[in-house]
Amino acid sequence: MFVDHARIFVSAGGGGNGCMSFRREKYVPRGGPDGGDGGDGGSVILIADADLSTLIPFRYRRLFRAQRGQHGMGSNCHGRNGQDMVVKVPPGTLILNEDSTSPLADLRKAGDRFIAGRGGQGGRGNARFATSTNQAPRRADKGEPGEERWLTLELKLLADVGLVGFPNAGKSTLISRISDARPKIADYPFTTLTPHLGHVAVDESFSFIVADIPGLIEGAARGAGLGIRFLRHVERTRLLLHLIDLSPGAEQDPIERLRVIDKELEASSADLAGKPRIVVATKSDTLIGDAPGPEGFGRLEALRLHCAQRNLVFHAISAVSGDGVAELVRLVATRLRQMPKSESDSPLPVEETCG
Ligand code: GDP
Ligand code: MG
Repeated sequence: MFVDHARIFVSAGGGGNGCMSFRREKYVPRGGPDGGDGGDGGSVILIADADLSTLIPFRYRRLFRAQRGQHGMGSNCHGRNGQDMVVKVPPGTLILNEDSTSPLADLRKAGDRFIAGRGGQGGRGNARFATSTNQAPRRADKGEPGEERWLTLELKLLADVGLVGFPNAGKSTLISRISDARPKIADYPFTTLTPHLGHVAVDESFSFIVADIPGLIEGAARGAGLGIRFLRHVERTRLLLHLIDLSPGAEQDPIERLRVIDKELEASSADLAGKPRIVVATKSDTLIGDAPGPEGFGRLEALRLHCAQRNLVFHAISAVSGDGVAELVRLVATRLRQMPKSESDSPLPVEETCG
C-alpha cells in the first residue's frame, strides 16, 4: 500500500563549547586568553528530490541526526562546524508540526528546501571576552543545543494520471495491467478502499504515475459510497482517465454513466472538472453481441459518437484481452509530454488523509 504519511524525528547538532585556555609558551609570560569558539552544530535540512515519489523510505528510517559542532580549542582554534544532515523527500511533501494542522512548509518542486532542525550555535571561547580591564577572562560559553522535534510529513499522491469511474469500471484491473501496482480486484464495488499508485514505464526515458482511487457513485459529492475525499489524491494529476464499463451487466447506459461522473467531478471541484481527460471504454471484450440500439449503434459506437460530439478524446480497451491497452499507454504518454509538468501554485489546504 502506498504511504502518504510519515513521522520523523529530527535532531540538529548542538554547538561546540567555547574553550577556556591561556597561551602558555616558553618566553611568553602571561600569554593571554587563547580559547577558540566552538563550531556550529549541523542542521537537518529537508530537500525535495525528483527521484523520490513516495514516503515509503521513512517507514524504515525515522531519526535524522546532524553532526554536532566540535568544541573550541586552545591556541585560538575554532571548532569544526558539524555537517548538515540532508534528507531527501519527494516533491509535493508537506511538513507539519506534530500538534498543528497548518504546514510549516510545502516542498512543492525539486530543489525546495526547509530547515527542519536548526543546529545550535557554537559557544564563544574565552579569547573573545578579553577586554582592557579583564585581560584574563575565565569565561567561555557553552554551545547552544540543536533543535529537536517530531515532524509529520504528508504527501498528496503526485500522480500524473488519475483513474476515475464507477466502482467495477475496471480501474484496478487496468492499473495492474499497465503498472507495478497490485490492488485487489473483484467484481464487487469498493474493493479499492485506499488509493494505489502505479509506475508505468513507457520507455527508457519516459514514465508516469497513475493513481487508482476508490470508485465514485452518484451522489458521491454529497457523501454517498465512499464520498469524494479520495478525489484529493487526484487533484494534482495532469490528466484524468475516465473509465466506463461497456459490459452488458452494467445497469445504466454508458453515456448516462459518463454524465453522472461528470456531475460528481463538477460538484466536487471546478479544478477537477476542468482537467484534461480521456474517456476510456473498458471491457471491450464483452461486446460480442453488442446489438445496435434504436439509433443503429452498439454501446461502443454510441459512446464513441457522443464523445466526438463533445470533443472528448475517446479510447476503448480490454484490460483482460489486452486490446487497446498499449495504445492507451502511448496516448497518455503523448498527452503528458505535451503538458507542462508544473502545477498551479495555489496554497494547498491540509485535509484528512486516508490510512
Ligand atoms: P474497479 O472497481 O474499477 O477497480 O474495477 P476492478 O478492476 O476491480 O474490476 C471489476 C471487475 O471487472 C472484476 O471482476 C474484473 O475482473 C472485471 N474486469 C476488469 N477489466 C475487465 C475487462 O477488460 N474485461 C472483462 N471481461 N472484465 C474486466
Ligand atoms: Mg478498484
